Amino acid sequence: MRPSPTLPDYAAACASFSWRDARTWLPAMPGGGINIAHAALDRHLDTPTAEQTAIRFLPRDGAAVDISYRELAERANRFANLLASLGLEPGDGVYCLAHRTPDLYAAALGTLKLGGVFTPLFSAFGPEPIRSRVEIGTPVVIVTTERLYRRKLAGWLHRMPSVKQVLLIGEVAEAPPGTLAVEPALAAQSPDYPTRSMEPEAPALLHFTSGTTGRPKGALHVHEAVVAHHITGYYALDLHPGDIYWCTADPGWVTGTSYGIIAPFTNGVTLVVDEEEFDAERWYRILEEQRVAVWYTAPTAIRMLMKVGPELARRHDLSSLRFLASVGEPLNPEAVHWGRATLGLPFHDNWWQTETGGIMIANFASMPIKPGSMGRPVPGIEAGVARRTDSGIELIEDPDETGELVLKAPWPSMFRGYLHEEARYRQCFAGAWYLTGDLARRDAEGYFWFIGRADDVIKSAGHLIGPFEVESVLMEHPAVAEAGVIGIPDEIAGETVKAFVSLKPGHAPDEALRREILGLARQRLGPAVAPRQVEFRERLPSTRSGKIMRRLLRARELGLPEGDTSTLEGGFE
Ligand code: AMP
Repeated sequence: MRPSPTLPDYAAACASFSWRDARTWLPAMPGGGINIAHAALDRHLDTPTAEQTAIRFLPRDGAAVDISYRELAERANRFANLLASLGLEPGDGVYCLAHRTPDLYAAALGTLKLGGVFTPLFSAFGPEPIRSRVEIGTPVVIVTTERLYRRKLAGWLHRMPSVKQVLLIGEVAEAPPGTLAVEPALAAQSPDYPTRSMEPEAPALLHFTSGTTGRPKGALHVHEAVVAHHITGYYALDLHPGDIYWCTADPGWVTGTSYGIIAPFTNGVTLVVDEEEFDAERWYRILEEQRVAVWYTAPTAIRMLMKVGPELARRHDLSSLRFLASVGEPLNPEAVHWGRATLGLPFHDNWWQTETGGIMIANFASMPIKPGSMGRPVPGIEAGVARRTDSGIELIEDPDETGELVLKAPWPSMFRGYLHEEARYRQCFAGAWYLTGDLARRDAEGYFWFIGRADDVIKSAGHLIGPFEVESVLMEHPAVAEAGVIGIPDEIAGETVKAFVSLKPGHAPDEALRREILGLARQRLGPAVAPRQVEFRERLPSTRSGKIMRRLLRARELGLPEGDTSTLEGGFE
């Protein structure tokens, strides 16, 4: 029987909700502390959920592998024991640069059990974004695979004094010096580990994100965040115990952690984990064969399915689906309609960002969807639209006015700081309001509509790209004098990265040089971040202080009025 949708009475839930009460949804640990891994795994171990499949792993080739909650907890325990044997202390950082395999989940949960701080990294990053994130976050341990280590870390990791150990998951042909193959090391560890009871405010997760300027920002989240992960998984993703749930987000980003590891396990669902990347036929097969009930994906993937056409979908029995959700980029109304027509269900858009740690605004299962809208705030979250003033912000009460999306702090999964960047963190707040950097409007019924970013960050295939990070690498090329990087619209990926460069005297803007610059960017940044196009310009538009005016570049590129787009220049981080 299908469970009835969560949040049957939205107004009543909002009126009675308190985060303090929400805490009691998860059993306290002995001693009154909290640990994300306890909420995700340990608390199930004396219930029937212990024998339920926690992860159904679909390897690239070959048969599915089922891992029960008990087995996953034991594997995470072995990992925690291994980390402890290597001298890892609570508060120490563990980075994970890996594709989706069960070891990634054991590593994340094992780190949390011990009180370590877990950071996922996008495995399609080139060496440079990885290096800068290691330099900022100073992890003690890096978990990766032999192949990724050799390709992306080996050349520079010895210069990072914080890193004491590299653990190689998956098959290891020959562990390079200074690395340790995990599989045999785990076998020697005990499957028991007393999960450490943490203070609610103890750091648990460090997620990197990008701003317009400066280096990547490390957003720090605490163990109490799990309260929000759990509740939003239930309210916004309609997760019910025993559901088969598939989150297609890459594990290198925040969605892959909050809703690809934590929320599914706290809610006692079976998580489908596919090792392979997008493939339309494979994806429909997974939905059918695994009897997926709840599917959380992203607009780029939906657009790729739409492009393939409806026939492929019709060849599959998708009757197990109950709830479809999407996040990360604007979900156009056509995609919602397409879902209804082709999959039998509409996509429910929801909104959040690295800093919020969890879903803030959503189209809930129990509510009519307004296609094109991000939905309404999660109970416990107060959202508004505001304009910035000299002294802070002014809330806009009138419906349908565009302003910056702001959220009333605090909530459990709100970030507690940018690592080593207190001033940058403080700039994100006006009094109690957190300033999201997104532009939105709210209609008379309280639904929020995404308008765009107020800053220059780029969203390509759902991945947030900081233009400064790309420009810095382009500037390393000896011929490049200036670089300006913008996002330009793309039918599938939402945006792709385009670079404008001017050259130093003595260099000619020819095809060979363009290819050389593109090649450097791909090699250093990885193909997911590098520009797709490089255009030479004699000079780039800049402010009097010499700052490249990306908005002007973008306006000129897209034929937009120049005045409108430059007004926000410099206003947002
Ligand atoms: P990230 O921190 O990488 O998760 O990116 C967060 C940003 O993605 C937000 O600030 C938005 O600009 C964008 N985003 C996330 N969800 C949505 C959505 N449902 N609609 C439009 N943009 C979104």
